[in-house]
This record gives sequence, C-alpha cells and structure tokens, in this order.
Amino acid sequence: MPVEFVKTENHTVFLDPRADFASQTVNSEIRRDPLTGQLSRIFPFRKLTLHRHDWTPFVEESKQKFCPFCPAAMEKVTPKFTPDISPEGRIRVGDAVAIPNLNPYEKHAAVVIMSSKHYVPMEEIDGKLMVESFGAGLNYLRRVASADPEGARYASINWNYMPYAGGSLIHPHLQVLAGPEPCSYDRRLIDASAEFVKKHGRDYWTRLVETEKQTGERYLGRTGQAHWLAAYAPRHVGDMLGVIPGKRTIDDIADRDLEDLAAGFKKIIDYYDRSNIASFNAAIYFARREDEGFTAHARIVGRFTIFPLVGSDITHMQVMHDDPWTVILPEVLAGELKESF
Ligand SMILES: [Zn+2]
Repeated sequence: MPVEFVKTENHTVFLDPRADFASQTVNSEIRRDPLTGQLSRIFPFRKLTLHRHDWTPFVEESKQKFCPFCPAAMEKVTPKFTPDISPEGRIRVGDAVAIPNLNPYEKHAAVVIMSSKHYVPMEEIDGKLMVESFGAGLNYLRRVASADPEGARYASINWNYMPYAGGSLIHPHLQVLAGPEPCSYDRRLIDASAEFVKKHGRDYWTRLVETEKQTGERYLGRTGQAHWLAAYAPRHVGDMLGVIPGKRTIDDIADRDLEDLAAGFKKIIDYYDRSNIASFNAAIYFARREDEGFTAHARIVGRFTIFPLVGSDITHMQVMHDDPWTVILPEVLAGELKESF
C-alpha cells in the first residue's frame, strides 16, 4: 500500500504531584506526513477546553476607527489594478471585491474584501460569501497568469479569519498570491506529489482519499466532488483537508468546485464555532499542469489562545523548529465531525 501512516509513540515517565508523586506514564505521538514526511507532534491534553471568545469589544473598537474595506471608504482609499490586469480597476464578484494589496509580499498580491459587512461572525459565514470571494480570487489569478505568465506561475488563495489567525483587520478578507515560484511548503507538496506518482505509478491524492475512505478513521465525507478528511499529521489544531480529485490548476477549478469547497468549509467552521475555536487559517493550493501527481486542494486549521484575551498558539516548536503540533487527535476530530457531513 503506497500511502503509509507512520508514527512513533513516546511514553514519558515522571513522578506525578497530583498522585502523591507516584510514577506516571504520559503518552504523546510523533507522526510523519504521509506525503512530505514532515514531522507533526500530538500531545495529550485529554480535552482542549476553550472559553467562548467574545469578539464584540474588538469589533466595536474597530468600528470607531477607520476601515478601508467598508463601502464608505473602499472606492477612495483602496488601490486599483493596472488596466492590463483589470480595465475596471477592481474585480467584483457579487458582494466580493478583489483589489491590489497595498503591502505586497509576492510579485502579484491581491486582497479580496469578502463582504460589504464590516464584521461577519463565524455563524454568518455562508456558501455565497465564500463562493463569491474565492471566485474573485480565482478571477484575479487567471488575469495575472494571462498578463504575466512567467511571473505568476504559482498561486494560492489564503484566509486569515480574525486576529488570532493573523488577520490585521476585522473586516473579512482573503490574501491572494501569485509568483514565479511556489511557497516553501507548496514546493514540498509539489515535489513530493511528483515523486510519488513516479515511484508508484498512481497519484498520491487519489490514493489518499481511497485509503482514508477504506479505513474510515479520518474520512469525514463528501460535499459534491470534494472529499474531506482530518489530516493524519496535522499542521495545527483542527486540521482538515478538502480534496477534489482530478483538479490541479487555477483553470481546472469551476464554480461548482468552489461551491463544493465552500460547503465543506462551512461544516468545519460551524464545528470550530461549536468548539469555541474563534479563529482559523485556510488555503486553497494550486499547481501547474506540468506538476504531475499534484491535486488542487483546500486546507483549514483552527487558531485559538489559551489565555482569555492575549497570547499565541504559535510556539518555539513552529517558529524555531518547523514542527507543527496539535492537542487534538485527528481520529477524535473526525469522530466529532463525521455526522455533519
Ligand atoms: Zn470595514
């Protein structure tokens, strides 16, 4: 079987003050991503209990300040694309508007203002909002790919929902990127996917979906053509993957696919909301036609803080050692989410 799920179980012994210093063994796991081999740590909080986070004071405070994405200001203060990318200046799909990022960190960098509403609470994130916003992002990516084929070879659509996830404004927005080469992690995915198909004669992503479906431990279900699963080696808490077999490039993704992805995201975001995970990062990864074995897919991870107001869930492990970690077993996560699919 080519997709292999490899893990090491650690048994750590200490004398436990909670049990009169009796000897206590605590288990943790180190897992390898079945595609890239990257290590991921799972440590054993019995249950991650988060307090309900109330964004209201931050939302209210932000309303008192200037917001460039609110309809009153947007036309005046946000930049426009050059005519070779958009003769209209900005790209509108329904209520979503793609504009250039004033602070680009890639050759082509856009922001999609997802809604005319300043604050969209988790429970109000719906299919329409996501489909229009992802659609505006894709529309932008196709335009830059046509205007600058060499400078926009690799692309992604990214979402930092609320400040715990790095969102710098409350107003919901996406980060859309295209550059001459892929991001570091994307490069690993693309290379490992090509290696896999070369070695096994079948593509990893189809095989992953088949294998996960068979064992059922982490398979959540389908929304249309998209298959959803809890990632075996999580990149963070609540890590879920949506795979649409047979799709690879920005041109392969149809509106129907966006609807399928949005439907899956909606179920997961509702789960985060129920679990008091107040923030999340999400991405849609694409590659190029020649990147054999790669499948376009979506990924979403929860973001939180253990402290009531401030604090970060990113530690030395991610920043100094490149090791992602989680405190929720993917199998537990899948068990809790399956019935929603
Ligand atoms: Zn606003």
